[in-house]
Amino acid sequence: MEREREARRRAEALAEDRLQDIYAKQQQIELLNTIASTANQSDSIAHVLRAALTAIGGYLDWPVGHAYLARQNEHSGASELTPTGIWHLASTQPFTAFRECTEDMSFAIGQGLPGRVLDNGEPAWIEDLANDDNFPRAPQATSSGLRSGFAFPVMVGSEVACVLEFFATKPTETDPDLLWLMWQIGVQLGRVIERNRHEEHLLHNASHDQLTGLPNRRLFHDRLTHAIARAARDPFNLFAVLFVDIDRFKVVNDSLGHPAGDELLVRVGQRLLSALRSNDTVSRPQGESTPRPDDTLARLGGDEFTILLEGLNEPADALRVAERLQSVLHEPFSIAGQDVYVTVSIGIATRPYGRTCPQQGAQASDAPQPPGRTTPDDLMREADMAMYRAKSLGKARCEFCDPGMQTQALQSLALETDLRHAVERGEFIVHYQPIMSLSQDGITGFEALVRWPREGGLVAPDAFIGIAEDAGLIHRIDLQVLRTACRQLAQWHADYPDAMLTISTNLSPRQLTRPELVGEVRGILDATGAPPTQVRLEITETATLGNLDELIETLRRLKALGIQLAMDDFGTGYSSLSYLHRLPLDILKIDRSFVAGLDRDEYSQRLVQTVIHMARNLGLEAVAEGVESRTHAATLRALGCTRAQGYHYSPPVAAEQATELLRTAFTAA
Ligand code: C2E
Ligand code: MG
Ligand code: MG
Repeated sequence: MEREREARRRAEALAEDRLQDIYAKQQQIELLNTIASTANQSDSIAHVLRAALTAIGGYLDWPVGHAYLARQNEHSGASELTPTGIWHLASTQPFTAFRECTEDMSFAIGQGLPGRVLDNGEPAWIEDLANDDNFPRAPQATSSGLRSGFAFPVMVGSEVACVLEFFATKPTETDPDLLWLMWQIGVQLGRVIERNRHEEHLLHNASHDQLTGLPNRRLFHDRLTHAIARAARDPFNLFAVLFVDIDRFKVVNDSLGHPAGDELLVRVGQRLLSALRSNDTVSRPQGESTPRPDDTLARLGGDEFTILLEGLNEPADALRVAERLQSVLHEPFSIAGQDVYVTVSIGIATRPYGRTCPQQGAQASDAPQPPGRTTPDDLMREADMAMYRAKSLGKARCEFCDPGMQTQALQSLALETDLRHAVERGEFIVHYQPIMSLSQDGITGFEALVRWPREGGLVAPDAFIGIAEDAGLIHRIDLQVLRTACRQLAQWHADYPDAMLTISTNLSPRQLTRPELVGEVRGILDATGAPPTQVRLEITETATLGNLDELIETLRRLKALGIQLAMDDFGTGYSSLSYLHRLPLDILKIDRSFVAGLDRDEYSQRLVQTVIHMARNLGLEAVAEGVESRTHAATLRALGCTRAQGYHYSPPVAAEQATELLRTAFTAA
């Protein structure tokens, strides 16, 4: 009886399994049939791909699917996958970030999920997108809620013609049966492509210019729309549209004939492209602090090209690119046996409007204007108008749509050129601001602050440090200042050995990632004979934005030289407390904005007091910056602060005056 029941149960279970099996098979067959019949009925690759994406997405009950087309890269000729913009999306909203980033990328062989399929012609599965080391879209996928995915090839003969990818919102395990089914579908789709090879070009041609192979007006418009949307989300994302028009193109065309004109357009396109940032997104080093997206060069038609630049720091960056474009056209083109000289007129429109104005000292208009309701057409029109102005002003030149921006960008470029010369010639001078002991009102040391003699005056650091950082010059300036300051310290130390004076210099956060830094500092200490224990290096909280472990390691190695480390402008930075105890610091400099508030509000007082307490708890010396009055000094003293620096005692002064201050203080004492 018992055995009979057991046997029945097993038979039922078996039947159930079979039934499920059959049901699954039926579904698979249905899927294959659907795709086969669309494939047979339609001669449009786009249509068949879309139908396949929808059918497979429905079958899997997965929300996202997308198709790539294999093509040759415009520069390298190597095979790569470009997005078709043909999607299966169960709903649009949650996947926007992922879709945009996918449509902005091409994948070379081996890169990312589709690149792996392109590499070996085999399906690939990623069980956990967030932890795959070859899935560059992981951040966007994660933020869109996607967790796993797979991709498979559409083969024509032994060649990968397309790749389809699908994504699920849950982790999944590799399913070989499913991949086998997808492989079958890939073969079916391959037949459609083989039948309609010419149309593959159409798919590309819909977005590309036939003559030059560059993106066409439509694709450019698309990219620009995305750029505007990105800038609306991140108002500091400065981008620019350049309108480039060949000067006197008509003359070439008329005198050498149309084929020569066409050839010239193709070759001008190639040279322009060579001056731009590579279009290959994926191979760019990860972890760059602000990776700039690709530049897009498009041909609108005739002799008109447009360029989209994103992720700029200031309008002058667009001008730099424009100058590069002019210079790659310098060499003549040899066309139809003749040397043809080409210049272009360039118009530039940027959004949002620039945010730095170096000539006015500090970051003048730090709040960028919102992009408003800028449309792609607005920007194209502005750039076009600027280009016309460039033409009317004598061709071979570049104009901004906004004349104010033009002036600003030109000044910024001139400043950079001058700055380079100043660095080459070591023209910077150093001023010294005394740091006082609050208990004894005596000088305990100096902060060395750089000054740049220019056009009869002294330029303050805020007006050029940022530019020097962007131009990769800052480390040379910082080291020049450190060398001068150490030499000065050695001199003062010899003259006033009992004073035990300290010298502080500032290190740009960009310095701290340079592997040579520690060796260079050691070299300067050795060469100048400055006592290392009396040398202090000031860093700012920005330094902690990068790799904290690496920073800590660098700081440890600096401290091993015997020098002391200070956190400058404390309280203005980012994550203050969470990392502070991990950094091997000796000094905390309280930012002058808090000190300035001491007379005005109780909040600042409490804040300063908290910082002083915290410094004490962490065993750090607190130095107050920007002490401008007797009240400031008294309040700080009452709050337990021991050191101070500010106009109340002395502004930064030249070396001779600083020596004079010392002489008065120490001879009187
Ligand atoms: P910092 O390191 O915080 O230097 C203190 C700044 O506050 C100096 O401005 C100083 O002149 C100013 N200051 C001093 N006392 C008072 C006061 O009582 N009231 C007010 N309102 N300001 C006071 P400076 O010399 O213009 O330098 C500005 C910043 O430029 C420095 O801020 C530092 O971050 C940077 N810097 C200066 N020299 C160098 C350098 O050689 N290398 C690098 N990387 N940065 C430097
Ligand atoms: Mg400082
Ligand atoms: Mg400071």
